Amino acid sequence: MSAYLILSLSIVAAAAAVFGAALLFMRGYSGDLARAEGDLTSLALALQERTDEALQSVEAVLRDVAGRIPQTCLNANEFDAFAASQATKAVLVGAAHSLSQVVRIDLVNARGRIVGTSNPHPAPEPIYLTDTSHYGALSTDASLIMSLGEPRRVQATGRKILPLARKIKDTEGNFLGIIVSTIDLGHFERIYEDHLKTRSLAITLYRRDGVILAHSPNAERAIGRRIWTPNTPLQRMIARHSPTLIRDVSWIDRKERLIALHPLAHYPAGIAVSRTVAELMAGRRLEARLIRLVAYIMDIAIGTTSLLGLRHVKTGILRAASERYLSRHDILTKLPNRLLFIEELKRTSLTPQRSGTGFALHLLDLDRFKDINDNHGHSAGDEVIQIVARRLRERLRKSDFIARIGGDEFAVIQRPIGSRQQAVDLAIALQAAMKVPCTANNREVEVGLSIGVATAPSDGKTPTELMRAADTALYAAKSDPDSGYRFYDPNIKDTRAERRALEGALKSAHDNREFELFYQPILDLAANQIWGCEALVRWKHPTKGMIPPLEFIPTAEETGLIGPIGDWILEEACSTAMTWDPSLKVAINLSPVQFKRRDVFASVKKALAASGLPARRLVLEITESFKLTEEATTTLKRLKALGVSIALDDFGTGYASMSYLRSFPFDKIKIDQSFVRGMTGSPDSRAIVKATISLANDLKMSTTAEGVETEEQLNALRLAGASQVQGYLIAEPMSREAIAAFLAEGRRARQSEQDDMLGTRSRA
Ligand code: C2E
Ligand code: CA
Ligand code: CA
Repeated sequence: MSAYLILSLSIVAAAAAVFGAALLFMRGYSGDLARAEGDLTSLALALQERTDEALQSVEAVLRDVAGRIPQTCLNANEFDAFAASQATKAVLVGAAHSLSQVVRIDLVNARGRIVGTSNPHPAPEPIYLTDTSHYGALSTDASLIMSLGEPRRVQATGRKILPLARKIKDTEGNFLGIIVSTIDLGHFERIYEDHLKTRSLAITLYRRDGVILAHSPNAERAIGRRIWTPNTPLQRMIARHSPTLIRDVSWIDRKERLIALHPLAHYPAGIAVSRTVAELMAGRRLEARLIRLVAYIMDIAIGTTSLLGLRHVKTGILRAASERYLSRHDILTKLPNRLLFIEELKRTSLTPQRSGTGFALHLLDLDRFKDINDNHGHSAGDEVIQIVARRLRERLRKSDFIARIGGDEFAVIQRPIGSRQQAVDLAIALQAAMKVPCTANNREVEVGLSIGVATAPSDGKTPTELMRAADTALYAAKSDPDSGYRFYDPNIKDTRAERRALEGALKSAHDNREFELFYQPILDLAANQIWGCEALVRWKHPTKGMIPPLEFIPTAEETGLIGPIGDWILEEACSTAMTWDPSLKVAINLSPVQFKRRDVFASVKKALAASGLPARRLVLEITESFKLTEEATTTLKRLKALGVSIALDDFGTGYASMSYLRSFPFDKIKIDQSFVRGMTGSPDSRAIVKATISLANDLKMSTTAEGVETEEQLNALRLAGASQVQGYLIAEPMSREAIAAFLAEGRRARQSEQDDMLGTRSRA
């Protein structure tokens, strides 16, 4: 055949392919197949992100370790000594332990020898990495900073590993050595395994040259193999390093697969997610045949016209379909996203509803989702979102529509509804779906859901009106912890503007020093003397006057302002306590949020150092709403070791009081006002107070009864054996100046009592 003929044939074939593909596109191609493609593409994208992040965090650790090499050590001889030192070993061990995907970290000098390692067992012989590809690449290529090495299996442990190495340069920019992390590839395979939702799905992490780094399922035969042989069109697509969808007979099972490729953003590697075409096409024979035909024609075209660049056609079309899908769906849950939701809401509002039928718009918001992220990590947060999405979807009819419209927000269009009651039923059902805790990161997480509902056409005719109504109802539901769901009604007051104003005012209040601490004395019953004072914050608002803490602390916690405000409270209270008699203590309330926003240990230490207050004079109060995580417990123990006391505040008001007491050796229990108030009337309250005091005695903790307002309560508490009392009967909280006068008065009174006694004695 002449070259000319081949070329003409190719063009015809390519044209036929384009035509066929276009035809395919027109006839409902955006149905099941497009969805499957979208799923593969979004999964590849999502896994790309997770894998890339996992590698980036390893690299960050390497950068951090390299950054600790002192300038003076940046010449060859001293580098060896630095790397071998005990201090460096500690750094390497710490760094290797900081990430679960890292097995070990080694420092390698310019000659390729390992001179420092996190490995606890020192090697008897020197180890040289001179013949590894990563050392080779980094020592010879001046522009290269980072390199992925060869994957291999460690015989002894069966573990599959991959070196990730970074170059270290001396002060002049010359090659000084490398720092190598050994990554556990099983870490990635375990991540991928969680996503194997259909039978034929396969996920591969490949290096850009086609070498397989990790693969799920059945990873055993995959490692070190090449995903595609070099110099095939497919291989060239990988090399092009941009997201693509392709079809190929796969090395995995020699079956034809639809494969979504996505390169990692920062590394010469990528993710391939594939399913067999047979599985995708089950029940879609006609399309299957058509696609196969087009693919066949196109493959010929690709094979023969690579010079014409027509190879792009197929991937281009597939990509267009998946891009449309991607821009309208949420990757994590596969649900429609906000964009598609708005389109759908418009469509639903425009569709003339049959007489008597309308639809309902439910806006859903997870309660305190930020806490879940903060307490359990973002991957647990993602898992929770996926579980919630699945549970919600299960409660809907086919005709309803659900979308994820924000981080922790979902929207449901319930259509049609015959009565308002139907919408009520669904809201209740959606909430009931969250009764069972979610399991994320192998832990149970309680997830609450607030729902705001608007019905059409009564609450709004346009999508905008409806959204506003549902949103107002949602906000009302959120601000009322008991309600859970709310239907829109025009009387709901939208207090958000007020709240935003409060947030703004709080911010400037801190800058303008509008906060003030009040001090409330605490009386020791045995000694009949003031034991110390609790610091209670107030906001002296320029126009609204004194604002009590319960009105602004929650907002300060939500906005994070509690961080700086809390630091100020610590410093101010400690320095005020320094003006009192050295026998007096000061108690300061800590918010749980402070522990997330701040290094509380450092803040406390700073406040003590700045004021000169001895640690034994400081008591920190925390409540049961405070999650005693391992980290928080460690901080509290370190504070105790300094000499600071820790008190459990508002005891008895939480759900887990008893178990809470067991989890940390508190120095003191503060019995909540509600029990004290009930003591004189209710035998139950009296019993609870007595039991708490004797429990505290057994645990060698002291007790403070709060909110003591009458002599009767005081006597009852004396009888019950409380160590200390606090309340209006003794004194109300007062300003710094007032408390100084109060304490001085007490001192004078004691003094004159003593003088009297001495006087009596000398007279006697
Ligand atoms: P709390 O730690 O339980 O503080 C005791 C509260 O009881 C104070 O209210 C105090 O004024 C009040 N009180 C004291 N004696 C009596 C009494 O005899 N009868 C009655 N009815 N109440 C009494 P306050 O100052 O409004 O503080 C309320 C809550 O705000 C505190 O409860 C605490 O949880 C929080 N808070 C106060 N100051 C701070 C602070 O500096 N930081 C943090 N994180 N929270 C604070
Ligand atoms: Ca308190
Ligand atoms: Ca309290």
